[in-house]
Amino acid sequence: MNLFGMTLGALQEQFAELGQPKFRARQTAEWMYQRGARTFGEMTNLSKELRQKLSAQHEILRPEEQARLDSADGLTTKLLLRFADGTAVETVLMRQPYGNSICISSQAGCNMGCKFCASTLHGMERDLTTGEMFAQALHIQDFLREEGSGVDTVVVMGSGEPLMNYEALLGFLHLMHEPYALGMGYRNFTISTSGIVPGIYRLMEEGIPVNLSISLHAPNDALRSELMPINRKYPLRDVVEAGRAYGERTKRRVTYEYILIDHLNDGEEHARELCSLLSGQLASVNLIPINPVVERNLLRPSPERIRHFETMLQSRHINVTVRREMGTDIDAACGQLRNRHMN
Ligand code: SAH
Repeated sequence: MNLFGMTLGALQEQFAELGQPKFRARQTAEWMYQRGARTFGEMTNLSKELRQKLSAQHEILRPEEQARLDSADGLTTKLLLRFADGTAVETVLMRQPYGNSICISSQAGCNMGCKFCASTLHGMERDLTTGEMFAQALHIQDFLREEGSGVDTVVVMGSGEPLMNYEALLGFLHLMHEPYALGMGYRNFTISTSGIVPGIYRLMEEGIPVNLSISLHAPNDALRSELMPINRKYPLRDVVEAGRAYGERTKRRVTYEYILIDHLNDGEEHARELCSLLSGQLASVNLIPINPVVERNLLRPSPERIRHFETMLQSRHINVTVRREMGTDIDAACGQLRNRHMN
């Protein structure tokens, strides 16, 4: 049985079956989650007999590093991690001025079908488990620890739709927060969604102050449905209404992601529509110049057009930022590295 990814409660049950006291479960959790132990043999404060017993019946399943790319400036590291069944996912570390931020995948592949996204090209392979999401974070935490630092913020913005893998996502957030694991505050997490409305309300009811990021990308239903098929199920108005409710209840600022695509959604009329859609909401807009999808003729607007769009929002008192790009030299956008390996 694999112990990695279990909560302390689950580990205690396992240890009870072995006739072991509870504190042994905590020691094991700390070895696995805080000290990077990959074998029971390393757990030197457990008796030799217990270590042997554990080794015989249990394992600590961690993914293998299939590929690692470091950007030339040293700020971005992208990993392709492979699980025991051969499924591989991408995880990214961005050394930001405000700390180490990591980007986690929630599914292997994705079936949302967004026209601009590389993660969806091969469809969805499977959901990731709580342990597999946690393993991505711990893989990075382990090597940051050697540099004397650690993970500061987490965005669930890699491949997959986190709110379509809800239970595993919640388990991941809880585990990351637990003191015997990484002990991270919920405010350091951001969940990015393509707008799964029931999932947004469900998350809002959990009472954990995680940040929400909603991928909007278009200011009207016609255009959004064209770019993001999920909009046919959960239309724009409902998505924005859910965002408003989330912000009001959790008191966390909701961010709307808006990819800028040349002459498709970056005109003045789009900026105006976007402003009226969000008016009166405590929200901010993050403009993302698209990572071009040349096959589909989705190209990046000129710097002037990007600047103009940003100014239009600012003049209407919308809090707006333009995403700083990192790691373009290492295929750091979702799905690119994985696709290359699959091909
Ligand atoms: N499914 C979730 C999280 C994964 S996508 C969601 O939709 O939010 C994470 C972010 O990357 C989203 O905002 C997505 O729209 C964006 N993204 C996908 N492809 C992109 C591309 N080619 N250029 C820029 N951003 C992209």
